[in-house]
Order: sequence, then C-alpha cells, then structure tokens
Amino acid sequence: MTESKPGWRELPRGAVSIKSSTEYETGDWGIEAPEFDREKCTKCTFCHFFCPEGAIEVREDGFPEVDLRYCKGCGVCAEECPVKCITMVVKK
Ligand code: SF4
Ligand code: SF4
Repeated sequence: MTESKPGWRELPRGAVSIKSSTEYETGDWGIEAPEFDREKCTKCTFCHFFCPEGAIEVREDGFPEVDLRYCKGCGVCAEECPVKCITMVVKK
C-alpha cells in the first residue's frame, strides 16, 4: 500500500526549504555569524529561506535564530534581508 503524504499546500509555513548541510556541522568554516536587530526585524523569514545551510530557524515568536553549528558565515542572510537588520559579526 502507498503511504499518503501531504502536498506542499498542506504543509505549515516555513516547512519547505532547501537545506544542504544540517547533516554536517559547517559552523567552523567561517569566522563570522549573523546578529539580528529585533527592533527592525519584520519576521519576513527571508533569511530562513535564503540560508544555504538551513542554519536559521524561525522561533515560536516569529523571530529568526541562527544555529552556529551549521552557520558557515557566508553572509547571504545579511545580503538578502530586505530591511538590513542583520549584521555579520565575528564569532565569540
Ligand atoms: S551567514 Fe547566514 S546565510 Fe550564511 S550560513 Fe550563516 S546563517 Fe546561513
Ligand atoms: S530577513 Fe531580516 S527582516 Fe526578515 S526575518 Fe530575517 S532578519 Fe527579520
């Protein structure tokens, strides 16, 4: 018997994403990581979808959060943020 799976229209917001490296910890590849200014963040989730490593999760309150185990410091999220509220900072 074939298992019935939901189509993309049934999936919750944020469930469809291309995540290349959450199986591999790429966090030590780069020296920088994103820092979010939550005063300016509109919770648009662009950073979540653009991150090539799937390192940015969307929290319950809608704000993004980076998982440093997977962030390789490429800066794509900061480049794509429409309100420019992401700053790349040197990892501590
Ligand atoms: S810098 Fe941003 S886009 Fe690049 S891996 Fe880290 S969280 Fe993802
Ligand atoms: S792209 Fe920018 S405004 Fe949108 S959720 Fe990410 S940090 Fe917030």
